[in-house]
Amino acid sequence: KEIAPRPGKTRVLTVSNQKGGVGKTTTTVNLAAALATFDLRVLVIDNDPQGNASTALNIEHRGDTPGTYEVLIEGMPLREVIQASPDHKNLFCCPATLDLAGAEIELVPMESRETRLRTAIEQYLKETDESGDRVDYVFIDCPPSLGLLTINAFAAAEEVLIPIQSEYYALEGLGQLLGSIDKLRGYLNPNLRVSTILMTMFDKRTNLSHDVLSEIQQHFPDELLDTVIPRSVRISEAPSFNKTVIGYDPEGVGAVAYKEAALEMAKQGASTNGN
Ligand code: ADP
Ligand code: MG
Repeated sequence: KEIAPRPGKTRVLTVSNQKGGVGKTTTTVNLAAALATFDLRVLVIDNDPQGNASTALNIEHRGDTPGTYEVLIEGMPLREVIQASPDHKNLFCCPATLDLAGAEIELVPMESRETRLRTAIEQYLKETDESGDRVDYVFIDCPPSLGLLTINAFAAAEEVLIPIQSEYYALEGLGQLLGSIDKLRGYLNPNLRVSTILMTMFDKRTNLSHDVLSEIQQHFPDELLDTVIPRSVRISEAPSFNKTVIGYDPEGVGAVAYKEAALEMAKQGASTNGN
């Protein structure tokens, strides 16, 4: 079994792209599950009212289940809402229920409306540092909009992971996303940077996939992972069984690709974190 380096401190990544359906959630849950198979401890914060990450991770998220909403709006501590994955050792999830859709509006008049998730994560990391069970990675799965939920995620993370679908128009909206990140860096979070770009739904038989890949490569030579995630029916089927593809089809091309991407990410993080 390959060894993935443990980061010197917890890496907090926001998974974001203003386009929907590009593989944000799929990437979040599968990178998280892959890192967990490498014996790293991983927390997924489902920050999308759709709750797709909670579903794929087989985490209870019915109406009255406490989750991201309670953390953001009621100030409930993360550790009180986090559930352990029933399928993956070392993997934990803060679920999202439909309530979270309302948080976007409810946050508007609230004090520190942009930094409530950051405060919750800082508190959680401090507590788990003291109790000796801190996580190595936190992934925040975001909705496809730049509202207060996503802004909370950007304020809370040091790294942004952008999944890019190997499709025409893949770059559309990317400039806007990068511009928004720049602005947020200025007034909310000077440490925020795009650390990782991952190509998803890659079809190696099409010129289009290769064209998009080489364009991204030119723009983001350091951030783009060498591993690309192929288009795979298994990857898209897994969530309907409440599974990650790592659990659903562990030896398949999708799971193997996500494990390779996770390993690459872990190594990249070890070299830039200086440990
Ligand atoms: P987002 O979170 O950005 O909206 P999702 O991760 O939910 O995107 O993916 C959108 C759809 O594409 C889902 O139905 C998902 O199962 C499917 N999908 C994601 N990645 C792949 C892939 N590599 N191959 C095939 N289908 C994929
Ligand atoms: Mg999603």
